[in-house]
Amino acid sequence: MTDPSHREEADLVVVGAGAAGLFAAIHAARAGVRVVALDGARVIGAKILVAGGGRCNVTHHAVDEKAYAGSSPGAIRTVLRKFTVEDTVRFFEAYGVELKREETGKLFPTTDDAHTILNALLKAARDAGVDLRFPRRVTRLERAPGDAQGGGFVVRGDWGAIHAPRVVLSTGGKALPKSGSDGAGYDFARALGHTVTDRVFPALVPLILPGTHPLRALSGLTLPATLTLRSATGKTLKEFTNSLLCTHFGLSGPCALDISRYWRDALCDDAHAGLFANFITEEREDTLDAKLLASKAANAVSFLREHVPERLARTLCEVAAVDPAASLRQLTRDQRKALARAACALPLHVEGDRGFTYAEVTMGGVPLSEVKLDTMESRVCPGLHLAGEILDVDGRIGGFNFQWAWATGFLAGSAAGESRLHREG
Ligand SMILES: Cc1cc2nc3c(=O)[nH]c(=O)nc-3n(C[C@H](O)[C@H](O)[C@H](O)COP(=O)(O)OP(=O)(O)OC[C@H]3O[C@@H](n4cnc5c(N)ncnc54)[C@H](O)[C@@H]3O)c2cc1C
Repeated sequence: MTDPSHREEADLVVVGAGAAGLFAAIHAARAGVRVVALDGARVIGAKILVAGGGRCNVTHHAVDEKAYAGSSPGAIRTVLRKFTVEDTVRFFEAYGVELKREETGKLFPTTDDAHTILNALLKAARDAGVDLRFPRRVTRLERAPGDAQGGGFVVRGDWGAIHAPRVVLSTGGKALPKSGSDGAGYDFARALGHTVTDRVFPALVPLILPGTHPLRALSGLTLPATLTLRSATGKTLKEFTNSLLCTHFGLSGPCALDISRYWRDALCDDAHAGLFANFITEEREDTLDAKLLASKAANAVSFLREHVPERLARTLCEVAAVDPAASLRQLTRDQRKALARAACALPLHVEGDRGFTYAEVTMGGVPLSEVKLDTMESRVCPGLHLAGEILDVDGRIGGFNFQWAWATGFLAGSAAGESRLHREG
């Protein structure tokens, strides 16, 4: 029988043991405090294992604030500088994990297997003495009754309760909810006095094109492209050049994923903002028009084939209502312009995104302005630290989101560990 008067205590409870939570738990425990890390999932590290197509893109060789959106760039920079890519490389190296840099600048384990990363984190947690418990879903996080600000917390679930003077809240966002990250952490943060941005949307998410859009018929085609987000007045709001994948529902690949959150964000302010695709990235509508005029190619499709795959060349002719076999010289000015527009500024008429189920990350969260940047400690609820995707910061494809998790997890965990030692000393 359990003793009803027994009150379980820890120095630190980490709520959510994903990338950020594990990192926080490891660094707090290394400082010598008793850490209990709780996660609601049956299997730890689901997102680490699916990341980078099962290879886990751990970080990027050149990380700076320009790769992120959400909170202010200055605040993001301050955090990133406190735990750098070199620190990430050293951490994994100490556990025998060698990282390799690919042409894109992304860093992966040389094993090309995400298990290598998860196993290193779990070993580091064990070595540091982290008490990792799962499945232990947290349903309530509140200040201990009677405790004034600066006092402790009670972390509760149907498994019981744990009291601790400090908590790291690292429950992630809402992306890939089946992994256990369903946004519950936002309610905990709000209940403890934080705000959450009005806009919490899927980011790094595939885009849906109308059923009749000609790019849907090119499912399986991957090619370099530039996607441009324009306001109703034609102003360029954001642009990415990268690999684009046409699918049966619309668009995926790094280029579409990177621009997705900007598209969704822009629509909230400007219902007529839209995305345009350029498949000949070194040209613009006007320069391509001039090249079409000067070209000696036999017809439109053979001209376009010099730049894009034949399937797309034929589709672009169809969009521009130009006979692919017609001689270039026979094209009217309007036909030439329509062809240049189809190739360099094709309107996408995106209908939506595929939602959190298919998103890699979450746009929005708790603003960075509500935490102290050197410790990730809450400015409104002393003793609470926040780390990872729960914060209003999202990075582009390339390992930037994990670097954010490592950096904030390190800061939150180290500070939580040290504060206890200072209290005792
Ligand atoms: C398919 C996919 C591929 C990705 N690939 C990459 C990549 O290659 N490189 C990259 O940098 N980023 C990648 N990301 C993004 C990256 O995985 C996340 O940004 C990162 O994992 C966020 O870490 P986190 O610890 O903040 O949150 P999460 O990893 O979401 O972890 C949060 C944890 O909290 C737990 N939790 C939530 N609520 C509760 C609760 N109430 N009680 C207890 N536990 C709870 C969850 O079970 C989860 O384990 C990818 C994401 C996805 C979905």
